[in-house]
Amino acid sequence: MHEIVYRGIVASPGVVIGRAYLLDRRKVVVAGRRIDDINVKDEVARFKQAVDRSKGQLEDLKKRFSKGLGKSHLYILDTHIMLLEDKMLVDGTVKRIRDSQLNAEGALTETIAAIGLKFDTIEDEYLRERKHDVEQVGERILRNLVGHKQESLADIKEEAVIIAHDLAPSDTLVMRKDKILGFATDAGSRTSHTAILARSLGIPAAVGLENITAAVKTGDVVILDGIHGVVIVDPDEETFLDYLKKQRRYKYFEQELEKLRTLPAVTLDGHMIQLQGNIELPEEVSSAAEHGGTGIGLYRTEFLFLNRQTLPTEEEHYNAYRHVAEKAGPHEVVIRTLDVGGDKVGLPGGFEKEANPALGLRAIRFCLQKQDIFRTQLRGILRATAHGNIKILVPMISGLAELYETKKILEEVKSELRSEGKAFNDRVAVGVMIEIPSAAMIADLLAAEVDFFSVGTNDLIQYTLAIDRQNEHVAYMYEPLDPAVLRLLHRVSDAALRAKVTLAMCGEMAGDPLYAAILLGMGFQSLSMNVASIPWVKKVVRSVRMQDAVELAALVMRQPTAALARKTAENFMEERFPDLVAEL
Ligand code: PEP
Ligand code: MG
Repeated sequence: MHEIVYRGIVASPGVVIGRAYLLDRRKVVVAGRRIDDINVKDEVARFKQAVDRSKGQLEDLKKRFSKGLGKSHLYILDTHIMLLEDKMLVDGTVKRIRDSQLNAEGALTETIAAIGLKFDTIEDEYLRERKHDVEQVGERILRNLVGHKQESLADIKEEAVIIAHDLAPSDTLVMRKDKILGFATDAGSRTSHTAILARSLGIPAAVGLENITAAVKTGDVVILDGIHGVVIVDPDEETFLDYLKKQRRYKYFEQELEKLRTLPAVTLDGHMIQLQGNIELPEEVSSAAEHGGTGIGLYRTEFLFLNRQTLPTEEEHYNAYRHVAEKAGPHEVVIRTLDVGGDKVGLPGGFEKEANPALGLRAIRFCLQKQDIFRTQLRGILRATAHGNIKILVPMISGLAELYETKKILEEVKSELRSEGKAFNDRVAVGVMIEIPSAAMIADLLAAEVDFFSVGTNDLIQYTLAIDRQNEHVAYMYEPLDPAVLRLLHRVSDAALRAKVTLAMCGEMAGDPLYAAILLGMGFQSLSMNVASIPWVKKVVRSVRMQDAVELAALVMRQPTAALARKTAENFMEERFPDLVAEL
């Protein structure tokens, strides 16, 4: 037998070697069939019973496991419970039973497929991934309809690497960390819940392996390399020994990095850099501090609008933001206003499909057109500013006109609150995302109008190099060190430093240790990233001198091609951080 290597998507870093445990998550096979008119009422009742039973099971899980669990787990359970009350799912199925005279199983399967189709058109990866939640909830109802009991991860007695088609939040809830070495799934992406949970649990994981469940049997020896999203089945001896070494080294390195947690992110010559976490859910707020970060540099608020029939109320906005601000205190929380595009049906009401959603009615453009939605969110954010250190960040600003209009609305909302006697911080800092090349080009003009910049490299690179950030066929061209990108970054930093505007970055580039010294050298004062990357970047920050970083940035900037710029950055890192580079 020869080893087989499967490549998927990086979900949670770390290396584990162990025996596989193939979790039976074969889909329940159900037959959709027509029913007689007379049976419709009973069928609806049977469906509703299965929904109630599903809800009971989730509530029970929540009760049993609520202590000692991260809030993100509970949030996801709540999401599933909420889905069991979702009109599209529940009423949609009931309507199908009635209108098409279908049995409950058939009606539910069709409803989930219909919802799935809508999700597929969503551009935002995070929102699109919520389709899995709907499918997992649907699967639970189906199992309850047909009386099929699911194998539980709580039953696993020996240490194992879990191989599954997909894992539901309820699986990860009952997962015993001492027994589960890691997991690998067919489905999922970097932003699927499974991946998010793996990171928050600190369990190595790879997802999106497509057909790993077909290749592995329980008991097979597998290597799970969460750093590269790779699974090796039946490894050869040489590979095995190689990974054993890698695993030891990685663990040791992580422990070393862990020691930096309480230390400041300060360069050898005393320049303090702010390292912060990016979060999507309010429940993730404490994880930034747990990884040695100081506050939240990007709170993507899109989640508040998800999985629901109605728009979030001002109170819901307020409560979520207040919770995050209080938890993060005394550190700051940068709340980004809604960033959705015109094709995002996740928004209650849905919107017209656009031919080029990335160039369409997205983020601030959308908010300025749907001002009621925007004003409600701004009221919630402003009221929360009375309870913590909050900054407001506006996404996708492309020019001054948008910024003027945004600020005008903000002032109007403030005066409304003032006249209602509601408390808020009148001097709340307002910043813009620099993620459209036009914004970078006029950074000097924007700098005169705002308190801070936060550079969103995910979009800035997409728009500068004309590379769809979702399209795997052009992913090879997605290059943060492209000279055009670097020149824009330089321009932005120059404008920020001249105007004494705080310069931050919250795109993925900020979380890669390879770029950290360059960014410091360019003048970035604040870097916000996925929380697991904080210790890695901190290690670089604490080991460089600002002067060296400035020289490196200048040298990288002089390179005529991305390849040469990358080589320059890599040489610097290999020379200074051979141990760190070996782990990347
Ligand atoms: C970015 O574009 O870099 C960014 C941080 O925003 P998002 O990934 O949410 O578009
Ligand atoms: Mg963006």
